[in-house]
Amino acid sequence: MPELRDLYQEVILEHSKAPRNYKALESANYKAEGYNPLCGDRFTVYLEMDADKIREIGFQGAGCAISKASASMMTQSVKGKTKEEAEKIFHRFHDLVTGHGQGEDAELGKLAVFSGVSEFPMRVKCATLAWHTLEAALEGKQEKVSTE
Ligand code: ZN
Repeated sequence: MPELRDLYQEVILEHSKAPRNYKALESANYKAEGYNPLCGDRFTVYLEMDADKIREIGFQGAGCAISKASASMMTQSVKGKTKEEAEKIFHRFHDLVTGHGQGEDAELGKLAVFSGVSEFPMRVKCATLAWHTLEAALEGKQEKVSTE
């Protein structure tokens, strides 16, 4: 499906050029830093948690188009979700980009644009960096996470 593939590419480029929730949150009560040494992607994820719920989320940093678009779309998909819901989405997203998904996964919505990443193992780390960083922030870990 070449057309679909082009569309996916477009969504990723668009998000990498104009990332959503690209800001340091002053109200953050949790944050974590993530680094992918293979590509040089580096992001900080900020969370404002209201008990178990992600009330506000932001991220900042630098990286390739895939890592940045993934971070941008990650913030959109977990905002307003509980910690447990966000972790569930991450696991499904992880299955998708590693090629272990069940095909079309309606619950992933727009995140499905990353399904092509499963063909490029090196890129899986780019696509999952922000999610690993989110997980670390949710766990309240202060140390830096690395994909290596
Ligand atoms: Zn990258």
